Amino acid sequence: MSGSTGTTVTEILAPGEKVTGVRLADGSTIEAGAVVLAAGPWSVPLLAAHGIDLPITVHREQIVLIDPGQDLGRVPVFSDLVSLQYVRPESGGEILFGNSDLAELEPADPDNYSNQATEAFLDLTVDKVGTRFPGLDDASIASTYAGCYDVTPDFNPAISATPIAGLIVAAGFSGHGFKISPSVGRLVADLVVDGGSSHPDVPESDFRLSRFAEGALLRSPHPYVGAGEMR
Ligand SMILES: Cc1cc2nc3c(=O)[nH]c(=O)nc-3n(C[C@H](O)[C@H](O)[C@H](O)COP(=O)(O)OP(=O)(O)OC[C@H]3O[C@@H](n4cnc5c(N)ncnc54)[C@H](O)[C@@H]3O)c2cc1C
Repeated sequence: MSGSTGTTVTEILAPGEKVTGVRLADGSTIEAGAVVLAAGPWSVPLLAAHGIDLPITVHREQIVLIDPGQDLGRVPVFSDLVSLQYVRPESGGEILFGNSDLAELEPADPDNYSNQATEAFLDLTVDKVGTRFPGLDDASIASTYAGCYDVTPDFNPAISATPIAGLIVAAGFSGHGFKISPSVGRLVADLVVDGGSSHPDVPESDFRLSRFAEGALLRSPHPYVGAGEMR
């Protein structure tokens, strides 16, 4: 086997509905009995080439770093599900602000989007943070950035076998893939090795790709009131 990270896969090879490897951008191929497709929103066209629908839409998510203007000591990670915001400390002493109101999403092209917050988002930040943390009179905006969420219809990922034998997909993490990555890794490994989950609390059926076509979306048994998209 050859190939390395930083190498673009242009095609999943699957003659006869069974995966045999991948083709790289330079035309070379890597043979494999199992392939894990974990390319975020870019997973969509690789599956579409085989007639498999992965319903992911891409949305821009903005982040603001706030200089609190004073020493706050130890700042906790804080998710406020009333005013729909989250904050956490950054290593430079700033406070990271994110908006967890996902009722209105901003569609984006993952290959071409603005990586800065808008003036409107800065106004929202000042409003939300100022209301929840009224003591920050000397706070100022330090910097901003933005990235993309790969969002599925139920804000949960597809971690699943596919109609192609040996091809596993793990994509569509909808803005919360980082925090669940240990469990994701475990389920992906289980699917590759055994074809099913080894953990009773993480049934593979919950994350099956086919649930979207079936209209059987994955819903939390304990949803947050007012923040239905949060998991
Ligand atoms: C602003 C922002 C804040 C977030 N905050 C949080 C948070 O607080 N907590 C949390 O849990 N999650 C958070 N997330 C979400 C989290 O970052 C994602 O869910 C997670 O990074 C998704 O990981 P992934 O590996 O599925 O996809 P990605 O990280 O998108 O990785 C996909 C990889 O595939 C590669 N790739 C694409 N196409 C190809 C190809 N054809 N061939 C080879 N490689 C390819 C890409 O280069 C990329 O490296 C946040 C996301 C954003 C944008």
